[in-house]
Amino acid sequence: MTDDTATLQTHRIGLLEGDGIGPEIVPATRRIVDTAVAAVGVAVDWVPLPVGASAIETHGNPLPQVTLDTLTELDAWILGPHDSASYPPEFRGQLTPGGRNIRPACALPGAASVSPKMDLVVVRENTEGFYADRNMAVGSGEFMPTPDIALAVGVITRAACERIAHTAFDLASRRRKRVTIVHKANVLARTTGLFRDVCQEVGRLYPSVTVDDQHVDAMAALLVRRGADFDVIVTENMFGDILSDLAAELSGSLGTAASINASRTKAMAQAAHGAAPDIAGQGRANPIALILSAAMLLDRVGARADIEFSAAARAIEDAVRATVAAGVATADLGGTASTDEFTAAVIARLEA
Ligand code: ATP
Repeated sequence: MTDDTATLQTHRIGLLEGDGIGPEIVPATRRIVDTAVAAVGVAVDWVPLPVGASAIETHGNPLPQVTLDTLTELDAWILGPHDSASYPPEFRGQLTPGGRNIRPACALPGAASVSPKMDLVVVRENTEGFYADRNMAVGSGEFMPTPDIALAVGVITRAACERIAHTAFDLASRRRKRVTIVHKANVLARTTGLFRDVCQEVGRLYPSVTVDDQHVDAMAALLVRRGADFDVIVTENMFGDILSDLAAELSGSLGTAASINASRTKAMAQAAHGAAPDIAGQGRANPIALILSAAMLLDRVGARADIEFSAAARAIEDAVRATVAAGVATADLGGTASTDEFTAAVIARLEA
């Protein structure tokens, strides 16, 4: 091809703003990604898609068919938080993600932190377990035989345990080579016992990685007492959701908690936090969690699609860290910067 523009390598990435603080942190993340990829001579071809409360207004559904159809063509997208509790009852639970959920909790030098040496990753199984909204092919897994009795089914399968265990051990092999399996096999002996046993079996295939295991309640205490000692924590869906919020807050703030959901072929960047309706529209949201989630996504896409996104991902992480270290931070980290001011400061570093 002779056209100059044809030589610019691009990759299509979906962009879904979501609810609450989504319309603030998603555009901030987009600007930062655009700046970082431009600096290495490539570009993102953004594909904006309707989702969430605004999509109920425009398309009559929080997850319109056009969004679903387009996502089947894409291998990567950024999803803002969704506040499904605020939707009409018939639409709740439709936006639940699946796959392997990777949630790092790493203190940022310069930011207020209860556990300033924490540097761990929660690897959370996200397709089954004790979240009744995502563990059945049909139906929700929660039911009420009478108005006064409510039941929920927990589902643990060997296949999903093996998949998440391999993700955890692969990751630990590239980090400090330590995996902690978190379960509650003293009470949920069959289900979380299977989770623990399968993870241990998989662990034997990774002799260089040290393995231990903890009950989830003990793990909560240990994260507070000596969170810096942990490297990779692998656990089922609900335990992972709770422990990753705890770890994020101990390392800094929920507003810094990055996360990606990945299957074999697709990946989605979505911050670990929710829509934060209490601060939505005020310009106070911390965009770091989504920015770092997007960096994780770029790293993955870069490696798979052979595009220079990995360098952009590292530049974004460095720029975020340097910005916080220089004392620019949003209120949740003890700073005074607005979402826009923080974003502008990161962009200035990327352009410097
Ligand atoms: P979900 O169950 O959907 O994950 P949640 O109930 O855990 O949501 P969040 O929406 O994550 O709740 O909010 C929890 C608290 O953390 C709120 O006080 C919110 O303002 C704060 N918070 C969450 N995300 C951010 C952010 N990016 N910046 C600043 N504060 C945040």
